Amino acid sequence: MRILVTGGAGFLGSHLCERLLSSGHEVVCVDNFFTGRKRNVTALLQNPLFELVRHDIVLPILLEVDRIYHLACPASPIHYQYNPVKTIKTNILGTLNMLGIAKRTRARILLASTSEVYGDPAVHPQKEDYWGNVNPIGIRSCYDEGKRCAETLMMDYHRQNGVDIKIVRIFNTYGPRMLPDDGRVVSNFIVQALEGKDLTVYGNGSQTRSFCYVDDLIDGMISMMDSEDFIGPVNLGNPQEFTILDLAKKIIAMTGSRSKIVHKPLPSDDPTQRRPDITLAGVKLGWKPKVTVDDGFRNTIEYFTKELAR
Ligand code: NAD
Ligand code: UDP
Repeated sequence: MRILVTGGAGFLGSHLCERLLSSGHEVVCVDNFFTGRKRNVTALLQNPLFELVRHDIVLPILLEVDRIYHLACPASPIHYQYNPVKTIKTNILGTLNMLGIAKRTRARILLASTSEVYGDPAVHPQKEDYWGNVNPIGIRSCYDEGKRCAETLMMDYHRQNGVDIKIVRIFNTYGPRMLPDDGRVVSNFIVQALEGKDLTVYGNGSQTRSFCYVDDLIDGMISMMDSEDFIGPVNLGNPQEFTILDLAKKIIAMTGSRSKIVHKPLPSDDPTQRRPDITLAGVKLGWKPKVTVDDGFRNTIEYFTKELAR
């Protein structure tokens, strides 16, 4: 098949492009390189089945494809808050443009949505039928309300135009190819520990997150795309939950670092708890994460050790 991956030069997108090519598909990667890097996909440029297009999906593009994995959108709070209006445009206009391609070419389209649609959840762990607790006017709204509207657009194109859609809600995912200055917690803590700098815990560190290794996440996304008679939304994530303070201690122990922990102000609207209920993914896709947190962190520490030595 010819498969379009928007945001294909980013962290998750580049792993996805690699996996699709290794299964023999043709891949068109569309990216504006806001948070993605050419370096993430340069190895793939040798492959005649791979095509890299610099394009901003806020603007329409004409492509003929069989499937669309729609990932383009900055994912780290510092990046999506850098230009919040642009983040909204990417989520709304970008998703409309991709749905336009899906409608015209009858391509199946999968949206990379997020656990952020649950906001600061009052229900724990989070199931797909929970509608969320989202501040519509806060500094995270450009991202979480943007993704909520992108989900709405997907559902309305499905109901109104019969577009073949899939929605996955991704929970915090980490692994090689995150940017060292990405701002997300796992990469921040690993880079700080490796550089002997203090680990910056925001607030008292009692807020929780659950961390999924990238390979597992890509398995889940591909299983969802290949599934029949199930449009989602479906949660994809690893249910093992950590407080941020415990995560900092774990990273210090695993890196053997002498770094200390310092506390910084908690950003506003930072969710207090997050853990996916992945029962639905198990039932519908036979999916659950396989990589242990210890193995996943070890691989990621190894990756950043090499990156920092470059
Ligand atoms: P990332 O920032 O590494 O990747 C996003 C990619 O999209 C980058 O390559 C960026 O350059 C590109 N992009 C951004 N705006 C664009 C635009 N207007 N036009 C074209 N390209 C554009 O982030 P990621 O972690 O790989 O996330 C990928 C997707 O998965 C995002 O949609 C994100 O919301 C979703 N997601 C990720 C996580 C996670 O933990 N990694 C969690 C929930 C949801
Ligand atoms: N966080 C932190 N120190 C950092 C970066 C993040 O304590 O250097 C916290 C952040 O406040 C949040 C959690 O770690 O509570 C996860 O943050 P991240 O930006 O990785 O993801 P998200 O908040 O979008 O889940």
